[in-house]
Amino acid sequence: MNKDEALLLLKSRGFKHTDKREDMLDLFEKKHGYLSAKEIQTAMKDDYPGLSFDTIYRNLSLFKKLLILEETELEGERVFQFRCTTEEHHHHLICLGCGKTRTIEVCPMQDLSQLDPDFKVTGHKFEVYGYCKQCQKKAAGF
Ligand SMILES: [Zn+2]
Ligand SMILES: [Zn+2]
Ligand SMILES: [Zn+2]
Repeated sequence: MNKDEALLLLKSRGFKHTDKREDMLDLFEKKHGYLSAKEIQTAMKDDYPGLSFDTIYRNLSLFKKLLILEETELEGERVFQFRCTTEEHHHHLICLGCGKTRTIEVCPMQDLSQLDPDFKVTGHKFEVYGYCKQCQKKAAGF
């Protein structure tokens, strides 16, 4: 998913185009990773001084419902990013410093169906946390 696809989708579902929505999607387009509502508010506060968490969350929920965004929790905080368009089963490497994500095609949990013969496994979540190269350099003081 990207900004243009998201705008088209919103239009096709009859949602009104607003600068606020477009600017919000623009943030995700530039980020290539997870954003929290707080980061969105901080980034948009100059253009939209009265923008409330309520409005942000309402739009985030809408984007999630339309499968534009996906959500996870990082260190206790809800964060959002553009939903991956790949249909293949995959996982993410997530940087705790900047929120950037990278897709990995390796799945370390192939045989979960064997855990319990009485339990029908339908899926799983697996996320790898750490620090990207830039954030490691930043931490090292370069
Ligand atoms: Zn993905
Ligand atoms: Zn990083
Ligand atoms: Zn997997």
